[in-house]
Amino acid sequence: MKFDQDTIIVATKNKGKVQEFEHAFAPLGLKVKSMFDYIELPDVIEDGHTFVQNALKKATTVGDSLGLPVLADDSGLCVDALEGRPGVYSARYASENATDQENNDKLLQELGELKQGEDTEQILLSPARFECSLVLYDPSTKGHIEASGSVEGWITSEVAGQGGFGYDPLFFLSQYEKTMAELTLEQKQSISHRGAALRELVAKISEL
Ligand code: IMP
Repeated sequence: MKFDQDTIIVATKNKGKVQEFEHAFAPLGLKVKSMFDYIELPDVIEDGHTFVQNALKKATTVGDSLGLPVLADDSGLCVDALEGRPGVYSARYASENATDQENNDKLLQELGELKQGEDTEQILLSPARFECSLVLYDPSTKGHIEASGSVEGWITSEVAGQGGFGYDPLFFLSQYEKTMAELTLEQKQSISHRGAALRELVAKISEL
């Protein structure tokens, strides 16, 4: 696997992820292209049971279609009180084309039902973690690099913050006493699952 491009193609149509990759790769002099630049490509069906299976499928499918190296991210939220759900179904938890708001509402509703009869004022509902698997695939060699990261937090019933995307407004970080959506992009990058996975990936690329 060799990576010597000035642009990195990321197999995603998630605007939040694209923004985070642009921010992370800019200091390395790398521009980011996403599936918004290749709208002719069909969506990849994410039928893996793990984040890494889905990331590998997205990277190899898109990489083989374009004949270029492709980075894929598969990530999601795993909630202890829900035995790890929504997990790989995070993007489509409420329904197939659910909005972030619908997914967040469904999560609070499920946790609320579970906690019925307990202290209704409870703000921290369950420990949870974000997980991220990254795969960088090179179709010219059929080789790939994997990296992963996670971050621990709590699901809070007090939604807060305008930043980030997805479940960030519900994900409370004890060390900041804020939700992920209240952090700046730099702060999120420094502690997030995606930030950790990216640091591992960049270290692996620089060892090539
Ligand atoms: P994917 O595109 O199939 O990997 O789905 C990822 C989903 O997981 C997103 O749509 C969000 O719901 C959730 N997710 C992943 N990373 C984050 C994050 O950094 N913040 C909030 N939600 C995230």
